[in-house]
Amino acid sequence: MGRGSSGIGRFGGGGGLNPANVSNVEEMISQRETNRSAVDQVLRVSQDMYDRYGAQTAEFQTADIKGKDANTLAYYDGANITVNNAYFDPAQMDSAYDRSVSDGFHPGRGDKTGLEAVAAHEFGHLLTDRVATAMGLKSGLGNIDAAATKIVTEAKAATSHRGVVQMAAKISRYATHSNAEAVAEAASDYWCNGNNAKAESIAIMNVVNKYIGKK
Ligand SMILES: [Zn+2]
Repeated sequence: MGRGSSGIGRFGGGGGLNPANVSNVEEMISQRETNRSAVDQVLRVSQDMYDRYGAQTAEFQTADIKGKDANTLAYYDGANITVNNAYFDPAQMDSAYDRSVSDGFHPGRGDKTGLEAVAAHEFGHLLTDRVATAMGLKSGLGNIDAAATKIVTEAKAATSHRGVVQMAAKISRYATHSNAEAVAEAASDYWCNGNNAKAESIAIMNVVNKYIGKK
């Protein structure tokens, strides 16, 4: 958190995580005995995302993340959602997440936990991947950006905003980083806050729901 911001959802690719900074990748589920509360928080989001969108992740993982990427809370790599071991603790993640909310970097988490908010953000990338497939784009990290651009452009038409960056700025500062992060931040805002989420987040998730929603 040294830079006053947390990196969440820096999926691999341009400007993303350096793989050399990631080590000790382990399956999350194998840690349920030793870190049950943290594992169960992630699984709660997973179950809900499955119920709403049929979206599953291949695997949940934890990893040590070092160097310039040490502030990364979690990431999506195109198949798996991985949480930084330094934050795979409910109290640690709550305080890290709340610091970033208080400076406007992330949307509020309502009555949810920091780990749930972060997991929902990463699922936002996974959902975008599924939307890419539903749009006929080939699945893959590169097409997350393409699908996200279509999603936010369509959502913008449902709001009064003239540009997608102005729209994203209503969600959080990190949402202005890219269209992919705008969708992920909207997914987190909507999962945590439901109908009390920002109108811009709801508009984005309405588009996601149109493509892949089950209900
Ligand atoms: Zn992200």
